[in-house]
Amino acid sequence: MWVIDIRHWLNERQDGPAAHQLRLKVKKLGEIITWITSRDRRLPAGETPKCWRRPKRKPCKGTLKIQFEIDDRIHWFCPECEDEGTIDGWQGLIWDMSERIFH
Ligand SMILES: [Zn+2]
Repeated sequence: MWVIDIRHWLNERQDGPAAHQLRLKVKKLGEIITWITSRDRRLPAGETPKCWRRPKRKPCKGTLKIQFEIDDRIHWFCPECEDEGTIDGWQGLIWDMSERIFH
């Protein structure tokens, strides 16, 4: 289980990965944040993000189950490979489509 504060993976402007090797992970987490915050406002959210894991070196074909936790963290779970984690620190980032204002 991953417990991620996405801000720790971001550059100083908080709009991209802090390091090249985090590029794909940040992109994927950004997709998850945008998807659930869009859906939460009933905006078109597009396709549900897919799993990005490669168990046994084969791409997992799972579609992620994504939901908010009570404390506003975002939880994802892949029913195929059982990868799961939570994302904290997403509020107010460029991927956040919610209308809430955070300072
Ligand atoms: Zn998976």
